[in-house]
Parts: sequence; structure tokens; C-alpha cells
Amino acid sequence: MQKYKIMNIKTLFLVCFTLTFFNIVAFGQAKDKIAKVVIDAGHGGKMPGAVGKLCKEKDINLKVALRVGKLISDNFDDVTVIYTRTEDETVEIYKRAEIANKNKADLFISIHCNSVKDKPNVTGIETFVMGVDQSEASMAVAKKENADMLLEKDHETNYSGFDPNSPEAYIIFSLYSSAYLNKSTILAAKVQRHLINNTKLVDRLVKQASIFVLYKVAMPSILIELGFISNTEEEKYLLRDDTQELMAISIYNALVEYKNLLEGTQKSFLPISKTAKPKAPEMPSIVKDNRDTIVTPIISATSVTKDSNDTIVTLVTNIDTLKIDAICFRIQFFAGKENINTSDKRFSSLSEVKKYNENGYWKYTTGNFNTLDQAQEALSNVKKKYSDAFIIAFHNEKKISVREAQELMK
Ligand SMILES: [Zn+2]
Repeated sequence: MQKYKIMNIKTLFLVCFTLTFFNIVAFGQAKDKIAKVVIDAGHGGKMPGAVGKLCKEKDINLKVALRVGKLISDNFDDVTVIYTRTEDETVEIYKRAEIANKNKADLFISIHCNSVKDKPNVTGIETFVMGVDQSEASMAVAKKENADMLLEKDHETNYSGFDPNSPEAYIIFSLYSSAYLNKSTILAAKVQRHLINNTKLVDRLVKQASIFVLYKVAMPSILIELGFISNTEEEKYLLRDDTQELMAISIYNALVEYKNLLEGTQKSFLPISKTAKPKAPEMPSIVKDNRDTIVTPIISATSVTKDSNDTIVTLVTNIDTLKIDAICFRIQFFAGKENINTSDKRFSSLSEVKKYNENGYWKYTTGNFNTLDQAQEALSNVKKKYSDAFIIAFHNEKKISVREAQELMK
């Protein structure tokens, strides 16, 4: 028994090492070219998706999808955009996957809005990758996004009798090959961060769910839930033109970052103009942090220790390799000799508190921004409480000057 355990750990180590090694090789040599991207506007035609007080999900999905597609076509000469729909039409779930697979696309991005029954206070953005997660919240999203197939003609034949409402039916997803999971997760993490930094909506993190269309596409794929139309404030926010543009730019910039990472290129982000930045709805403070604790977000320290199976370990090693070329800006607000826990009560009004040690001093930072602009905007808020706060930059977690960071980002 003991021996078996030891061998298991050794094997696991070998697997991790091999995967990390191959990934470094893959990223380093820039073998992966992103030449075709499928933009999938969720639902459409006879399938409205979630229905809010003011709108139907399918309409927001389409508007944002078209904007993302246009940004890609306008700014990349080397990328073809393939839409699963460009108007309000019914496209079956299996056909969406077929479109992506037949075109041999390199990436599949599905755009949706969220809703939850009888919980009008729930808000926020979450991004899904394919994965078996039987938790209640994850299953609810999977069921909701898979439900359209019941309205489709011949669904029994097209989905081999799969019933999206039967928990037992979800066993088929355990057959999912995780070949694309690493890349999907890297992209999902970037999309989620850009969207949260730009909109300031609640961060519901990157998660896994058994979503049929993600299961069927043979390429890295993600499904974005832009916000909850079951919350009227968030619904109004999602309906705005400037919000939709902001969200599209966020998704586009995440794609730029992902493509840069894979291809070794250095394309810059599109700027977020201040005028195009609608104020996120003010939610009552009680629902500010309404993440579902039942869902295990796949990028978190807790999931690593809790589930040390191959999948999770692989994901984490990849997230680490992804940091190989990560530049970010943070706001330093405090320094001192005392080594304080970042979750200390004194820091409770600040988000993403981190610390580092320099010349014997502990220095504390808040926020984690992709661009200097985003950091500058947040700085004014931090300065209200910490008037000496200033912006610093990190390259792969090593402190560098802001000017150096800007040079590297060019
Ligand atoms: Zn949807």
C-alpha cells in the first residue's frame, strides 16, 4: 500500500515534469499559430437563452460576439473569424461544434449571459472551461447552457439520447480528453482578468462545467458568462452600448495576450478610453462577494491541495509557465518591518493584497493590472486612504521599474 502510494507520487511528478517541459517547448518555439477563431454567440432564433425583465440573453450575446469578431478582423491580418451565427437565427448546439471542427479552428469562444432563478442579488462574471464538476452551481450552468438541445428537432438522434436534465447522463463527460484544457484555462484566466479589471463587476472566477458545446469542439475553448440578466441592475448595465464595447475590447485584449504568449509576438492592447467606460452597477455590499463557494474555481491554491490529481496539477504547472512572460502593475500602499498576513483585517478594504520583501522591508501591494492605465485609475481610490501609494511593476513576479514594464510591453 505504502509502496503503491510512493510510486504514484513519482509517476505524478514525472507526468507534471514532462507536461511542463513540453509546454515550455511548445510555447517557446511558438508552434501554435492562432489563425482561425470561432466566435459563438450563445442561443438565437427560437432559443432565447435566459430571459430578463428587459431583454433576452441571445440578443446581448450576439451584439458582443459581433463586436469581438469585428475587433479581431480589424486588428489582425493573420486571423480569420468564423461566426456560428451573425443574426437572430436558430443554430443547433451540435452544429456550432461542427462549424468549429470542420473549419479546423484554433480557438472557440462562446459568449453568454447568466441568470439564476429566485436569486435576484447574484451578479458577476465567470468564465468556463470544459470539465466534470458535479457541484450544484456548476451543474446549474451546464444544464442551462445545454438545455437548448431539448428544443431542437431530432435531438434524440443528434445527441445520442443525452438528456441535459438527467444528472446520470453527465457521465459521458468523464470521457473528455483534457488535451485542450491547459490552453483553454490560460485563455479563460486572461479573459476573466481583463473583464473584471475593466468592468469592476464581481469576479466569479474561472470554473469548470460539463458544457456540451465545449465538450464537442476539438480545440481550446471557453464559455464566458458576461453577467447576470436576472439582476436588473446588471441587466441594464449589459444592455448598454458602451458596456458591450468595453466587454468586447476586454475579450479582444485577452486574446492578444494569449496569442502573444503562444506565438512569441508582442502585439499591444487596444486602449480602453475613459468615455467608453460605464460605471459598474453599485450592488449592496452584502452581495459584493457572491462567489459560489460550492464551485471549485480551478485556478486557486485551495484546489491544488484539495485535488492533487493529474488534471489540476497540470493546470497549475501551466499557469506557472504562463507567468513566464507576465507583466503586471500593482499599487504599493504600505511598507514596514512587520511581516503582516495579507488577509489581515487592516487590509480588508483593499483587493488582491500581496507582499514582497525588499532590503529588509515588507512592502504591501493591492490590485493586479494588465495596463498602467488600469493601475492609474485604481490608484486614485487607494490614495484616499493611503495618500503615499504609488504604482510599481512586476515582470514574472520580479519587481521592475514602471518604465521598464512599459518598454517590455511595446
Ligand atoms: Zn447562455
